[in-house]
Amino acid sequence: MIQKPKGTIDILPDISYKWQYMEKETQKILENYGFREIRVPVFESTTLFERGVGDTTDVVQKEMYTFFDKANRSITLRPEGTAGIVRAYIENGMSSLPSPQKMWYAMPMYRYENVQKGRLREFRQIGAEIIGTASYLADIELLIMANEIIKNFNLPEVQLKINNIGCHKCRKNYQEELKKFVANNLEKYCETCKTRFEKNPMRILDCKEKMCKELNKKAPIILDYLCEECKEHFEGVKQTLEKVGIDYEIDSKLVRGLDYYTKTVFEFVSQQEGYTILAGGRYDALIEQLGGQSTPAIGFAMGEDRLINLYEKYRGENIKPKVADLYIASIGEEADKRAIKIAQELRKKDCYVEKDITSRSIKAQLKYADKQKIKYIIVIGEDELKSEVIKIKNMKTGEEKNIQNGNLVMKIYDYIKNGESV
Ligand code: ATP
Ligand code: MG
Repeated sequence: MIQKPKGTIDILPDISYKWQYMEKETQKILENYGFREIRVPVFESTTLFERGVGDTTDVVQKEMYTFFDKANRSITLRPEGTAGIVRAYIENGMSSLPSPQKMWYAMPMYRYENVQKGRLREFRQIGAEIIGTASYLADIELLIMANEIIKNFNLPEVQLKINNIGCHKCRKNYQEELKKFVANNLEKYCETCKTRFEKNPMRILDCKEKMCKELNKKAPIILDYLCEECKEHFEGVKQTLEKVGIDYEIDSKLVRGLDYYTKTVFEFVSQQEGYTILAGGRYDALIEQLGGQSTPAIGFAMGEDRLINLYEKYRGENIKPKVADLYIASIGEEADKRAIKIAQELRKKDCYVEKDITSRSIKAQLKYADKQKIKYIIVIGEDELKSEVIKIKNMKTGEEKNIQNGNLVMKIYDYIKNGESV
């Protein structure tokens, strides 16, 4: 039997309604803040991610699904959303639109990862980007929104961690100090970190290797090297978070896995599961780096798969699947036709109606309706066609009620919508 590729999941109907619930709730919040949806291609030119995400990152060095298409172009399945969105922003001349542009997305991402808890090869992210403002108020707006999304699901112990990793000016001094520090022990660092040493030393702080993590404990911290502008920005973010009552923790080692970040970076971490659910930061240089005009921006991405896992574990029973309002059982050709008509008319009225589509026995039809936990049923057989009344039954209480045949659909509608009070 052919099996699904490693690191992918099937989202079956008995759980997909939970995904839909989370997506709808999140979308509602995103739209309340004025974000509009953007959809970009699943695949892009490989160079977009090499230049955008950064060729010293784990994502580009180890995790990309890259292949040549039939015309020999190097193509990569998107490992994250921001690079593609920035490409679309530049390519479609969106800088001439009212600024800032606020966009959200819900898209699957592809990374060739070591598959483990919370780490898939195809996974889904819901993200948001604000393009066109350097103000710390944009950071605050995004953090308040992210916090609302997380809080709305009432998950236990999710901690916001923030840091400021400086701009291209102040980072220079810091990187020199960091390099001096790492140089003392360079031979003890992993091979990947050795290559990062020259190209992008701050990446070393993001290394997941045990030895590197240990060595990094005593490394100088970026916050001691921030320029005035970055310091002020960070103060603005911290003080306002306090004012609006959002708890946070400063994590001076937080640098994030993608190269394009500047100034504010943040993560919402599940203490229980030990992984990050939502993460992001400012990327003031990315748009220019990808060929657009210099434009400041900030964004985040939330790992939907991790969010669902957490929700399932701690709050799963809170969401219920949709159940049909009515099941119409029927037997015999005439009755079947009648059932189709009644079902169609009720569905037009926005009722959720199921009917028999198997031509099996009434007993088997009712067994199905019962398994689906459908509350009301009607049975149409030869007797019902001839008779003046149709019986509607409440499957939970067993109660039956006669409905007169004239204006039948309206009467059924009233009954299933308003219940026994009719
Ligand atoms: P990590 O350090 O955990 O690898 P990252 O820095 O690669 O994370 P981002 O690229 O910022 O993460 O992605 C944002 C969010 O997307 C993560 O916080 C996580 O919730 C989710 N995510 C990232 N990679 C995966 C994956 N392979 N499987 C499932 N979710 C993921
Ligand atoms: Mg990663």
